[in-house]
Amino acid sequence: MPELPEVETIRRDLSRLIMGRKILDIATDSPKQVQPSLVEVKKATVGAKIKKIERRAKLLQIFLSNGKILAVHLKLTGRLLVRKRDAPKDDWQHITIVLSGNKELRFADLRKFGWIRLIKDKKELEKLLSEFGPEPLDSLDLKKFKAILASSGRPVKIVLMDQKKISGVGNIYANDALFLAKIDPRRPAKKITEKEVKKLYQALEKVLKAGIKFRGASDQYYLDALGRKGSYQDHFLTYGREGKKCFDCGGEIKRIKIGGRGTFFCPKCQK
Ligand SMILES: [Zn+2]
Repeated sequence: MPELPEVETIRRDLSRLIMGRKILDIATDSPKQVQPSLVEVKKATVGAKIKKIERRAKLLQIFLSNGKILAVHLKLTGRLLVRKRDAPKDDWQHITIVLSGNKELRFADLRKFGWIRLIKDKKELEKLLSEFGPEPLDSLDLKKFKAILASSGRPVKIVLMDQKKISGVGNIYANDALFLAKIDPRRPAKKITEKEVKKLYQALEKVLKAGIKFRGASDQYYLDALGRKGSYQDHFLTYGREGKKCFDCGGEIKRIKIGGRGTFFCPKCQK
């Protein structure tokens, strides 16, 4: 699933590529992914211009000149692609937003769990965003982070990935942050010492910033808004590296499951 760095990369691309363009038409062959309905979304957005694009957690928000907002969640395999209108159809292209200037914003999604949702106003948007925890690299300060970890006896990795507690962190960056902080992902969050909390906070910031710098991880489906791969997968510390050598001690990276998710760590380095 695209995480904070992947969605942020797309946000920056879209801001550069489609700002100021007018929505001319919307079409879909997967009506369930356009909410509340294609008819209502078209009625509210066709003719409006794209004013700004923001991200909160893994959710993108396209603000329009008429006050309406389109919220977009990529879920597991969603892609947002900016193409010329006559460009060949993209794989799994299910929603097409026709824009002025001979462009299309295409939503492609193999698994079809992603969605585009019409938000009527800022109040409705606030309600939608209120379910997300603070934003790493922004509103999540060390004090808040400490309190979040102290409040849960669940494995620290699960707490890092809980969107209600902390926004935007998924499996890739949680694994790598715990490796950098030398913390065993199974440890109860509240048992993490004060010194370790600080290390983990800094590690999380470091891996997320690396993710953005390398324009996301394309080990699976993720592509940026021009259909190009990111390269953070070439810099994974533990994620997907089962059986390979630990970069720190040369020991073997192990894979276990925590909360049903593949978890990669070095048993020698991470205590
Ligand atoms: Zn190691």
